[in-house]
Amino acid sequence: MIQFQNEHIIVFQSELYKTTSLIIQTEDLLLVVDPNLLPNEVKLIQEHVNKMKGERPVYLLFTHSDWDHLVGYGAFLEATVIASKVLKDKVNKEEILNQIKQFDDQYYLDRDYPILFPPVDIAIEKEEQLLKIGNTNLTFYKAEGHTKDSIYTIIEPLGIWIAGDYLSDLEFPFIYFSSEKYEETLKKTDRILTNHKINMLIPGHGHIAKTYNEIIIRKEKSLQYIQELRSLIKTSRDSRHLLKDYKYKKGQLEDHEGNISLIKVELNIE
Ligand SMILES: [Zn+2]
Repeated sequence: MIQFQNEHIIVFQSELYKTTSLIIQTEDLLLVVDPNLLPNEVKLIQEHVNKMKGERPVYLLFTHSDWDHLVGYGAFLEATVIASKVLKDKVNKEEILNQIKQFDDQYYLDRDYPILFPPVDIAIEKEEQLLKIGNTNLTFYKAEGHTKDSIYTIIEPLGIWIAGDYLSDLEFPFIYFSSEKYEETLKKTDRILTNHKINMLIPGHGHIAKTYNEIIIRKEKSLQYIQELRSLIKTSRDSRHLLKDYKYKKGQLEDHEGNISLIKVELNIE
């Protein structure tokens, strides 16, 4: 269940949806990102954190509020929580908790920690907001489109880009909020690669990207999907062929249909 590991980072990969969880360590801190998903997987991450932290403070970062990314919060109640201000101010938090409970009941899962919505200690609201902890710098970018409360995080000097549910090698864009905003977020890629020396991009689902070239390819592919989908919808044409290169497309069809419905609303098409 460990996809990648070096002295600074462990990338855990859930059996479900190849969802990633991270533990990043610097001399200043331990940063845990989106700990998920099955009870034993969260427990394993928790054990690693307890073994590794020593005297260092533990921070917990949530990339966005989708239930699969928040499911592990209750196992890290002592940590300082970082997330967007939009996530902090979210109105229908109960809905997310219900989705977690629904999932656990569906598969008869028990967790030895409470299911809670994370209270945000450090709220990110500005573009390129900087959080300095000792010699560790976290720079945040708004990443609207998938959801309204998504953020990108860049960790320096490690050069790690935490992308949340963008720039996956396994998923076309899942657009829950806005296709225009989604495009804007993708178009930040070049600026981010100019502003920071990135060694590794980690998506919320799928595999890490270790070269600029790979990141650019993912960006282009996502942009192409959105733009072609929009134009196919405008001319009432079928768009299922846009999924042909995606390995798990049968399971992703519902998300594609969701994108169609959302873009139709955006375009005022029946
Ligand atoms: Zn998501």
